[in-house]
Amino acid sequence: MQPLHLYNTLARKKQLFEPLSPPYVGMYVCGPTVYNYVHLGNVRTFLTFDTLYRYLTFIGYKVRYVRNLTDVGHLVGDGDEGEDKIGRMAKLEKVEPMEIVQRFTNDFHTVMTQFNTLPPSIEPTATGHMVEQIEAVQALLTKGLAYESNGSVYFDIDTYNQRGGNYGKLSGRILEDLLNETRELDGQSEKRSPLDFAIWKRAAPEHIMRWNSPWGEGFPGWHLECTCMSTKYLGKQFDIHGGGMDLKFPHHECEIAQGDGLTGHDPVRYWMHSNMLTVNGQKMSKSLGNSFLPSELFAGSHYLLEQAYSPMTVRFFMLQSHYRSTLDFSNDALKAAQKGYRRLANGLRIIKMMTYQAGEGEPGVDSPSVDSPDETKQQDIRQAVQQFYDAMNDDLNTAVGIAQLFTLLKYINMLYLQQLQASALGEDVFNLLKESFVTFMQDVLGLKEEGTSNQPVLEGLLTLYREYKEQRQYDKVDQIRSYFKAQGLAIKDMKHQIDWAYEE
Ligand code: AMP
Ligand code: ZN
Repeated sequence: MQPLHLYNTLARKKQLFEPLSPPYVGMYVCGPTVYNYVHLGNVRTFLTFDTLYRYLTFIGYKVRYVRNLTDVGHLVGDGDEGEDKIGRMAKLEKVEPMEIVQRFTNDFHTVMTQFNTLPPSIEPTATGHMVEQIEAVQALLTKGLAYESNGSVYFDIDTYNQRGGNYGKLSGRILEDLLNETRELDGQSEKRSPLDFAIWKRAAPEHIMRWNSPWGEGFPGWHLECTCMSTKYLGKQFDIHGGGMDLKFPHHECEIAQGDGLTGHDPVRYWMHSNMLTVNGQKMSKSLGNSFLPSELFAGSHYLLEQAYSPMTVRFFMLQSHYRSTLDFSNDALKAAQKGYRRLANGLRIIKMMTYQAGEGEPGVDSPSVDSPDETKQQDIRQAVQQFYDAMNDDLNTAVGIAQLFTLLKYINMLYLQQLQASALGEDVFNLLKESFVTFMQDVLGLKEEGTSNQPVLEGLLTLYREYKEQRQYDKVDQIRSYFKAQGLAIKDMKHQIDWAYEE
């Protein structure tokens, strides 16, 4: 089997993944700023790293997954000046900033659960790590890599570079270009160079979220929290750091400079960036007005949406593209994803009910023996399983992985429709098929069955359906059919049995 390779943004190529201290893996992902509802673009990034977390765990690593919450409202816009995002919301609504933080943290958790993402091992907050951040500012000042100016403290990029640092190496930005691009912003005059970034910012009188520090009342720079929280929980150097592509610069570039400045070496071994969810080719973002919320998606209540889509349909839609490609939102693609996901969900439901030596009358049942195994089919199944791992090991290629699931699904459906006897696969391959399909789909890709809480009622209704059919009471038969249909389910009248399925 191909060993796991991941694309490292810093190396600009796929590299063999070798954790610092196997079987342990440390992974840090930049979490949301909790001042607003997360939109579907944000979800894509968290879903990518959830899948990575799931896969690393699945192949045996013991992963410590740290995903922070930015609850210090850093500033609106990329510059160092402007209003505090959380403070602004708090003022607008006349509530405490921490009420804003709590509300959107709760919403974020609800959304993450809806999309079946696993909770991280640690979810630290910026406000909970103020001491660490102030200490880091002090340490950078002591090392001469930062300077105080008018109550703020800035990271000194020129000095950092003179001492061997390479600011710009992650994003590939060239210092000269950056200098030309940098607009004259308010407060720029406080800096020795326009590229220097704030690690501590003096709070203007109207700024609500403020803390005491040796440099007066202020708040930490956004980049600093991730440096402090990642190294606190994962060590001065750790395995994986992730986030959306838009965070590469300046956020992650600054994290490298800070970490390197504090410890003398790169903080992260593998930098991973997931690409943007776009709408008509434009990044989905709140400020562009082209974003929608998960709740709008589930209700179909946004002008861009032709219908409602379920969380697993969306998860499937996102996993069908590689995380490093942009993914453009479209109703057609989502409708196709709904069909694809439901086909897999039907496969999941039926394979879970099948056993190699089950009693009579159950789906997929077969008495092992008679037929000799069909080696071509056995080989095909083994190969699909192998190729699933190879795809995931090739920089998490979920798109190719899903294609393998459909190969496995073909055999599950053949067994279900009794077009194939389990004995033709043999017990080992039958079990491989079942176990692989269930674990790949549920544990690795995080695709679970949706909307099946009333299964016992459905089974009861199916019994009635069978009776009414025998008695030729077709109005009642139709009534039951309509009841299933209203729930997105279909009754399957097959030669050998009557069953229900998710409508595809
Ligand atoms: P923020 O709260 O703005 O820091 O965003 C949280 C995460 O969502 C970051 O990792 C961003 O890179 C990511 N993100 C923001 N917009 C998009 C988008 N349109 N597609 C994918 N990820 C995004
Ligand atoms: Zn971050």
